[in-house]
Parts: sequence; C-alpha cells; structure tokens
Amino acid sequence: MAEVRVNLADHSYTIHIQAAGLGQVGQLMKDMPFSRRALIVTDENVNSLYSGALVDSLITAGFTPSVLVVEPGESSKSLATADKVFTKAISLGLDRKSPIIALGGGVIGDLAGFIAATYLRGVPFIQVPTTLLAQVDSSVGGKTAVNHPLGKNLIGAFYQPQLVVIDPLVLDTLPERELKAGLAEVVKYGVIADPGFFAYLTRHVDSILVRNPAVLTEVISRCCQLKAEVVAQDERETSVRMILNFGHTIGHAVEGVGGYSEYNHGEAVAIGMHGAALLSSSLNLCSLAECTAVKQLINAMGLPLTAPGYGTDELLGYLARDKKVVDSKVNWVLMQDIGRVTITQDVSEEHVRAVLSQLTENQ
Ligand code: ADP
Ligand code: ZN
Repeated sequence: MAEVRVNLADHSYTIHIQAAGLGQVGQLMKDMPFSRRALIVTDENVNSLYSGALVDSLITAGFTPSVLVVEPGESSKSLATADKVFTKAISLGLDRKSPIIALGGGVIGDLAGFIAATYLRGVPFIQVPTTLLAQVDSSVGGKTAVNHPLGKNLIGAFYQPQLVVIDPLVLDTLPERELKAGLAEVVKYGVIADPGFFAYLTRHVDSILVRNPAVLTEVISRCCQLKAEVVAQDERETSVRMILNFGHTIGHAVEGVGGYSEYNHGEAVAIGMHGAALLSSSLNLCSLAECTAVKQLINAMGLPLTAPGYGTDELLGYLARDKKVVDSKVNWVLMQDIGRVTITQDVSEEHVRAVLSQLTENQ
C-alpha cells in the first residue's frame, strides 16, 4: 500500500493507493469526525460495477450510505444535476458532518466536490476516483466545478477532500481509450518534474498497457506525489502550478476546434505536449533528442501526436482565447530538459505557426 500526504496547512489530507482499496474505504473513514449518514455520488456505469463493494465497506464500518446515480458523461456536470443531488442531500437530512463520496471519474469528482463545497457551506468530501485520469489528476488539487451553457467549469470552488482512496484494480474495466487518456497526464508528470519517472515510464510501457497492478500502483503514486508537491507550493493556481499546464495550451485549442468530441482531453493533451516539445526544440530550449524522446513515449502509449486536417488559424484563434491567457499573452510551458520546464510569454507567432502546421499536416 502506498500513501501520499498532500500538505495544505489546515486542510491537509492523505491519498491511499492500494489494490482492492475500494473495500477499505469504510475502515479508513471510521475514525474521522463524520456523521454516520453518507451520500455516494456515482454514474450508471460505475454504479453497476463498484457501488456494491463501496456500500458494503461503509455498512461494515457502521455508516448508513445512500447512493445517487447520475448519467455518465460531461452533461451531468451541470447545475441541473447538482440540484438533484442537493434535493437528495436535503431529503436524507444530511448534516454538516455527513460525508459526500465521489465514486467515478473526473465528471463525478467535479460534481460531487461542488456539492460538498456548497451544501450547508461545506461538508466532508471523500474521493474514490475510478478513471486513471481522475486518479492522477483530479484527485489532487481541489478543483471542483460544474459547467454553464456558455462555458466549461465556470461555476465552482477550490475545495479539498478529507480522504482519497485509489484502487488500481478498478482500472481493469476502464475502456482502453479512457486508460490512454489518463496516460497522457502521466507522461506529462515525467516531462515537467521527474526524469527518473520519465525513464521508468519508457521502460514499463508494456506492463502499463496491460494494466499490471503493481506497475500502475507505482505510476499513480508517483503522479500523485509530484502533483501534491506542486499544489502544496501553490494551492490556488498562481505561479508554480502553471507547469501543470504543459501540453494544455495547444491541447485546449485542439479540444475546442474538435468541438470537445473528436479528441478527448488526454488525446488533445498528447497532441499539445508534442507541440510544446517541438516548440521547445525549435527555440533551442531543449535538444532535438529530448523532443524525440517525448514524442516516442507519447506514441508508445498509443496516443495521437497530430491532428491532421485541423486549421492553423482556427487553432491560433483558440490559443488567444484560452482562459490561462493573461494580458492577451499566452503563457507557454516549455521543456528545458526532460524533467524541467520553464514558463515564457516570449514566443513569436511565426514559431507557433510553424509548429501548428506540423501538427495539422495531412500525413
Ligand atoms: P474522466 O473525466 O476522468 O475521463 P468520466 O467521469 O468522464 O472521466 O468517465 C469516463 C467514462 O468512464 C464514463 O463513461 C464512466 O462511466 C466510465 N468509467 C469510469 N470509471 C470506470 C471504471 N473503473 N470502469 C469502467 N468504466 C468507468
Ligand atoms: Zn489535463
């Protein structure tokens, strides 16, 4: 079993990463200062696979859990769905110490976290992430949100969980494409912060793709550790935390141009990381060999490197509108070495155009 401590002064918490951890959640919550009545928020797919084990674990530990099931997918990250969860919480009589437990991927984590942050001005929040993306990304950082018809993640709060339990065995049932989406963020951690981890990933691609539990436990632990270190330095996303946006500048543009449907978040980030690596080497910030190593690892993980047929101008338009843009300048996170990045606004449009045209060429 691995544990990662996220140090955030008076709202620090522990992430437990453990095969069959799903059955341990009740035990881990037992001595925390919670009411016994708990609400599990999950989606239809995850409910049929994993709610039973979680409910059993909670009952054994003396809790009285209820389960609220929403439809799978991004459309559940809405105020309308949140309203249904609030109604359930109120009708169950949940009090200020009643834990809300997110069992699912990023959608469920964001939705349930938003509920926990706002119901009665904040109740305990527990995360049991079931996608690789949610395990390595959304379980650290405390970002919760729902979408508005005019934009994604516009309504939310920073709110930390009190406990995170990650069970790598639940990844066995995750669709291949979802697994790979999570792997894009995994590669990102190696590139931005840890050359040893990048090398580990390069050596273990095959075991990762066959979901070897021991290797996945190691991978998830390292990612949580790396993200915890970054977030501990910068809880509210001001400076240091910007390095986590590596690959996301072009990535968000690719997602946007594709109408959030052609490429999923991880695939878009993979294309964006390739772009950032190309840009870094074209500006002589890193060597061509390092750029190639990043490209090869993304490719070996079964992720896309390019978005053939996409329009350079359209992508540039999205870059200019990215919400991370301050004073209309794009903050580029670029690679200096594998394991070290720098943030700069000093990139000419010509360099960006050249990279975008490489990414969008029809092969
Ligand atoms: P993310 O934002 O983390 O990619 P989502 O919450 O959108 O995740 O979940 C992606 C899809 O995977 C959803 O359809 C969800 O129901 C499904 N899913 C989540 N976890 C699992 C799992 N462990 N096994 C099978 N399907 C899962
Ligand atoms: Zn991301």
